[in-house]
Amino acid sequence: MKKRFTISLQNRLALTYALFISLALAALTIIINIFTGIVFTSLVKTNIAGKSAEIVRAIGEQYNPMSRSFDTLTLEAMGMYFVHEGYIVTVEDEGGSLVWDARSCDMRECTMVINDIADRMEGRFGFSGGALRRDQYPVRFSGRTVGTVSIETYGPFFYSETESAFLSSINRLLVMATIILTFASFMVSIVLSRAIARPVNKSAEAARQIAQAHSGGTSRKPVIRIDDNYKTKELGELAFSINSLAAELEEAERRQKQLTSDIAHELRTPLTCLQGGIEAMIDGVYKPDREHLESCLEETIRLAGLVRDLNTLSALEWENITINKTEFDLGSLLRITAEQFKAAAIEKGIEIKLDLMESPVHADYDRLKQVFINLLSNAVKYTDRGSVTVSIKEKGGKSPPWLQPTYGGLPPPLSAGDTPATPPPPIWEVSIADTGIGIPETDLPHVFERFYRSDKSRNRSTGGAGIGLAIAAAIVHAHSGDIQAESAETGSVFKVAL
Ligand code: ADP
Repeated sequence: MKKRFTISLQNRLALTYALFISLALAALTIIINIFTGIVFTSLVKTNIAGKSAEIVRAIGEQYNPMSRSFDTLTLEAMGMYFVHEGYIVTVEDEGGSLVWDARSCDMRECTMVINDIADRMEGRFGFSGGALRRDQYPVRFSGRTVGTVSIETYGPFFYSETESAFLSSINRLLVMATIILTFASFMVSIVLSRAIARPVNKSAEAARQIAQAHSGGTSRKPVIRIDDNYKTKELGELAFSINSLAAELEEAERRQKQLTSDIAHELRTPLTCLQGGIEAMIDGVYKPDREHLESCLEETIRLAGLVRDLNTLSALEWENITINKTEFDLGSLLRITAEQFKAAAIEKGIEIKLDLMESPVHADYDRLKQVFINLLSNAVKYTDRGSVTVSIKEKGGKSPPWLQPTYGGLPPPLSAGDTPATPPPPIWEVSIADTGIGIPETDLPHVFERFYRSDKSRNRSTGGAGIGLAIAAAIVHAHSGDIQAESAETGSVFKVAL
């Protein structure tokens, strides 16, 4: 089979985080860059316009209305200062004659300044399409135009030396911040992904070990648990689920082993008796007379009964058994069943009391009979004085959902008089109470388990293998009913709800 390309959870998380953060940072850097560029450019354009206005005003102040001329000496000093700032100034008088011109004054300096600006804009900031531009402004004095100032600059705008240094340092800062943040985000993503992946990996490893430990072999299995004390809810739940799974597997395995040893034990006892009896007859120790043969037969019957019970239980547990439901009266079934135990009860000097009522049910007659036989035989078996009371009553309240009739998702059908056609079926609660030895509280939750006996000495005088109640419970559950054991002041009570 072609091996699929896989990537570890940690790497995947780290890559995803890192990629996401890098992209976010890159986008942020670009946005900041564009935004600063736009704001800065508009600021610079305003500065240039302000500077041009300031130049025109300063030149205007050099106009002497008496001589109707400009102070050329001051103009020259000012003009060369403006040149150094990137503004090439030409001043003409009102007649259009040249008063002062920066180029004529120092052509070399003007060319050098403009070239420097062009280099800065195009080389350092990648500016393209810039060219020399010339703007003309009238020089006014007392509301009269007394001359014209032409200002040549690198356009549409340019950064002064200070502005370009400021912009460069902002760009440098931005690049450095991006590099540092990207590095930091990589580190954080590695740490974070490791923190998330470690418990998941630990859980996966534990699950693998559990699977390995429980795959075949009868040797003692190691108890594997992982720490489920995580602050992250989902990780804690994952670890908890794996631990529960491991515990359940161990319990299932323990039960399986217990079951095997219980079956072996139950089969061994009658078989040993049988073998001993037959051997004694062969060796001539016992005579093969009726008494000894009957004793052997009894053990064989016990064996056959055990195998039959196991068979029934296994069929019920595997849901291989069909439940043949018919309509009958539960009260009558209980009366007939109790009748079978009359003789045994009289023999033990106990009384069987009946408190029954008409109680129609739709159930499997034979299987329910089996349930009540098992319960009554236990009640008689474990009671030495007093009585066994079999009663039936209608349980109050509404039927639980699993006992209510379904109408294929539709509302209940209505009869001619618009009254509900089928009232919900009643729940009958059968109670079999005895005044016998009772069941210890600690054993109550387990009595319905296979081979469970509160009498741990496995006293054969009381007989049973511990399957009777398991069969009864399986049959009741197959009817969607409920069976419970309670401990009474004297004796025990078994309740079956149908
Ligand atoms: P068993 O064949 O051993 O009676 P069951 O499955 O019928 O097996 O019962 C399981 C165990 O529950 C019994 O071994 C007994 O310890 C206890 N038990 C059942 N019914 C009664 C009862 N009426 N009174 C006291 N103990 C009971």
